[in-house]
Amino acid sequence: MKYRLLIFDLDNTIFDYNAAENNALKLTFEYFNLSVTEKLKLSYREINERFWQQLEKGEISSEQLRVFRFEKFGQVHGIEWNAAEVSRVYLGNLGRGVFLVDGAEALLSGLRDVFRIGAVTNGISDVQRSRIGYSPFADLFDPLVISDEVGAAKPDPAIFEIFLEKAGIENRSEILMIGDSLTSDIAGAAAAGIPSCWFNPAKMPLPENCTAKPDFIIDKLGKVADIVFGG
Ligand SMILES: [Mg+2]
Repeated sequence: MKYRLLIFDLDNTIFDYNAAENNALKLTFEYFNLSVTEKLKLSYREINERFWQQLEKGEISSEQLRVFRFEKFGQVHGIEWNAAEVSRVYLGNLGRGVFLVDGAEALLSGLRDVFRIGAVTNGISDVQRSRIGYSPFADLFDPLVISDEVGAAKPDPAIFEIFLEKAGIENRSEILMIGDSLTSDIAGAAAAGIPSCWFNPAKMPLPENCTAKPDFIIDKLGKVADIVFGG
């Protein structure tokens, strides 16, 4: 078989991040006696997304992002709350919510005895480690590299270099990166010279201006098995 080491992205590849976020927001809003509406959730997501973009550009730190997003949300909606406390409650809820992408458990249990399986994730250390710990994959990912812990985030090839050093694997053609984001997973893998597979459940067309093309495109997670066992 061609590939020996598989690197998975976690959010929206293995874990259903949208479902986890939805659940954590609902629990957090309820805790602070706020009625949960689609409009509020959408507003939070927009605010959160803007801060993540700032984080990826290195303009703010992960610690700042955690608090700023709830501070801004409070300002926009006229809610007086302690953003640091809201963040703590929210991250606790997020870290306890395990929601898996369809097919993730079957896929990983079929791969784990045959391939080495690692993960590279952009996220908050406590949240990612907590969710993995509560999931069926508690001891699976080796190495597990979390952007928050290493000071580099996808698509920066530096995070892949850190991963490769931990994995001790030199031959990059024996590695396959699997992830749902063209701009972070696929672009990052390409910059590091690692073959990649784009998990594209929404069947979106590959953008015209896409410079880092994935080697494979799949719409169902289970199709990873066809690639790695077939190759
Ligand atoms: Mg992802």
